[in-house]
Amino acid sequence: MTGSTTDHMLTVTWSNSTGWGAPAIVPYAPLPLDPSATVLHYANECFEGMKAYRSKRTGKIRVFRPDLNAKRLNMSADRIALPSFDNDEFVALLCAFAAVEERWLAWSGNATMSDTDENDFLYLRPMMIGTTPRLGLSKPNDAMLLIIASKLPSWHSRPLRLLASSPEESVRAWPGGFGYAKVGANYGPTLKTQSHASSLGYDQVLWLFDADKRLVTEAGGANFFVVWRTEDGRVEFVTAPLEFGTVLDGVTRRSVMELVRERMPEISVSERHFSVDEIVAAVDSGRIIEAFACGTAFFIAPVGEIGISGRDVKIPLKVEGKSGEYARTARRWLEEIMYGEIEHAWGVEV
Ligand code: PMP
Repeated sequence: MTGSTTDHMLTVTWSNSTGWGAPAIVPYAPLPLDPSATVLHYANECFEGMKAYRSKRTGKIRVFRPDLNAKRLNMSADRIALPSFDNDEFVALLCAFAAVEERWLAWSGNATMSDTDENDFLYLRPMMIGTTPRLGLSKPNDAMLLIIASKLPSWHSRPLRLLASSPEESVRAWPGGFGYAKVGANYGPTLKTQSHASSLGYDQVLWLFDADKRLVTEAGGANFFVVWRTEDGRVEFVTAPLEFGTVLDGVTRRSVMELVRERMPEISVSERHFSVDEIVAAVDSGRIIEAFACGTAFFIAPVGEIGISGRDVKIPLKVEGKSGEYARTARRWLEEIMYGEIEHAWGVEV
């Protein structure tokens, strides 16, 4: 995922004595940051990732469930001793910023853009950092909230190949840690493993946890679902639970589960621990249906192969060799809301 940032950024500063100041949308530029700022030493940085879309019906700019990003930003900030920011105010700033950058979203001027148009979006990256210039190890007295935006290419090209990690060598998150928070400190330490996976031709790491049980957690910067037929013949969507604090509460994950529970009540949606060995058993017994990663950046990304203990396990892709049926349906449901094709409470016009 590479991309270029747009030409503005939003900044708001905070100090322990005066609270949050007035927000400003200014030209995108490097930050004046003291080399002893706490963020550079103690990693008090958290961020969010979300997208702005243009409505296919009205041409207006929309965001998807921004209230969930607002809550998650505060939850992450709290984990690293940064201040909280009012949820509604955050959503208002996000909308104001997206409106300023709207020219980055394609618009034919025709409120009935056809389905064949590329689904364009602008990636929004809110973040908060501790800025107090102090090498002493204590809670920062100063912070900054920023929002920047970037044009990212969409991930449509091909099904993902995942490489299951070796929990003996590297785990992404652990109970009592901070895997549930979207803090920068969760990502830097994954890059070496990610780069090793890339060098072997895989797209993302499927992070396992617990060397004995080989439990599946997440797929790189995305949540992971497997769909299979259970031994007693039910169709089950399975994803790792949040209970250990080792998995990020993804907005896409949540939305997929809520829509499947509401619209396909015959299917079991389970948030439970499951192992990579259960995936292999489901593949070998023909019970596997499909698997996909999901998150803002990757959206719903079908998985075609998983490297597990030296074997490339093939996952079916029944729709034109590119996707499973359920992944395609979930993707379509979400797109309809994101691109304003239908009215839905999750789609917020800016
Ligand atoms: N897990 C991790 C580790 C992530 O970084 C992300 C991206 N935010 C996700 C899951 C998916 O979350 P969301 O659907 O909110 O983008």
